[in-house]
Amino acid sequence: MRGGRRYRLLRGIVSLLVLRYLAEGEECGYGLRRRISGVLGEALPPGYIYVILKSLRGRGLLDAREGSRNGRRVVYYRITDSGMDFLLRHRGAVEAGRRAIEELTRFLEGRGGESARGDRDRHQTYWRRGARCAVPAGSPGRCAICGRPAAVRVPYANASFCEEHYPQWLERRIRRVADRYGMFDGVRRVAVAVSGGKDSVSLLHALAGLRGDYGFEVVGIHLDLGIGEYSRASAEAARRNFEMLGVEGRIVDLRARYGFSVPEAVRAVRRPACSTCGVVKRYALEEAAEDAGADALATGHNLDDVAQFVMMGYQSGDLEGLARLRPVIPAGRHYGVRSVKPLFLIYERDLAEYARIRGLPVAGAECPLRDRTSQGFIRRKLLEIEEGMPGFMLRLVQEFADGVQPALAERYLREEDVGTCRICGRPTSKGREICSFCAIRARALGTGVAPGATG
Ligand code: SF4
Ligand code: ZN
Ligand code: ZN
Repeated sequence: MRGGRRYRLLRGIVSLLVLRYLAEGEECGYGLRRRISGVLGEALPPGYIYVILKSLRGRGLLDAREGSRNGRRVVYYRITDSGMDFLLRHRGAVEAGRRAIEELTRFLEGRGGESARGDRDRHQTYWRRGARCAVPAGSPGRCAICGRPAAVRVPYANASFCEEHYPQWLERRIRRVADRYGMFDGVRRVAVAVSGGKDSVSLLHALAGLRGDYGFEVVGIHLDLGIGEYSRASAEAARRNFEMLGVEGRIVDLRARYGFSVPEAVRAVRRPACSTCGVVKRYALEEAAEDAGADALATGHNLDDVAQFVMMGYQSGDLEGLARLRPVIPAGRHYGVRSVKPLFLIYERDLAEYARIRGLPVAGAECPLRDRTSQGFIRRKLLEIEEGMPGFMLRLVQEFADGVQPALAERYLREEDVGTCRICGRPTSKGREICSFCAIRARALGTGVAPGATG
């Protein structure tokens, strides 16, 4: 049988898929084959499904009856009670299988395009050297796709890439993450928040490159926060990238639109600059995305950002904050725009390499208002762990997004707990009359708000 190795490997999964479809109602072998082939993305060999059905029937997990369709004899299969028990008992195994397959996919995709022989030779070469990782430390080695000298080493994927193939590999990875979480399902126009830094600029270029695949339009949005030279350089970098790609770009001047700049807000509120700025940016970006007619707003939060947030949330027990940390926030009662984080499983250093290799214009200056708090310490420690355990941050965030966050959301994210700001109509926390943005704005403009009215 062609592809025998593949189908031997998939046998358990195909058996579970058979039971899963029969759990919806009886079905013939042809119908099961068609549905499962659709999931696998290729046709199962004709006799294969009947081998599986015979085996499941022999184990009492399904039974069969004869019927007819269009005058032809057809055998219909039904799941038995034991079959249903068997299926439900596999929940843990399926979850473990998913993790194992992701690990294998990461490894094999990093080596895409090479022959099995090439893989074996290289594997032996590196393991003879006693390296823990298939790519020798300190040297990028050879490109996993074309075998030419590599420019970038990706430790957690156990692979290296040349300058031509690295951007392709990273874009494919971004696309896989986006697809897995349905970020762009049904989306026709994506607003990309472009601060001018490497993450957001890389995101803009990657999504512009995926326009043809997804069939959406891209519009770039830059907020001018009014932070002196830093903001001027950031706006210039954003503008250059919009021009380079020929995408529609919008620059929203915070002061012109809302009457205050970030430094003015920070002075008035007297809270850590980045938390005040974060509230303002989120609000202004969502409005700008709506104004631009987008149905999704993509932001450049990377894996390192999210890992840091997760660790800080655990440390402080901020369960509501963690419950809100999602790769996709659907459009809802208060916002017309879905919010997505396509880079949330992409390492910061991978984005830096992408921007470097593609020669993207990026604003290099550091924001003078940046908080120097424990956040930096936690981030450094996470990077140290990552150094010794490649893939640590990826697993931390993936497990959080797939397991912890949904459980927290069930408990802490209830629609009835969301109030409506009496000034702007956007969401507030339960019991608050005014949203955080309107409270900051009132202070920055000197109009004041009642104590305790903030959300
Ligand atoms: Fe805003 Fe902080 Fe970023 Fe500066 S570093 S732009 S204050 S979030
Ligand atoms: Zn290559
Ligand atoms: Zn408000």
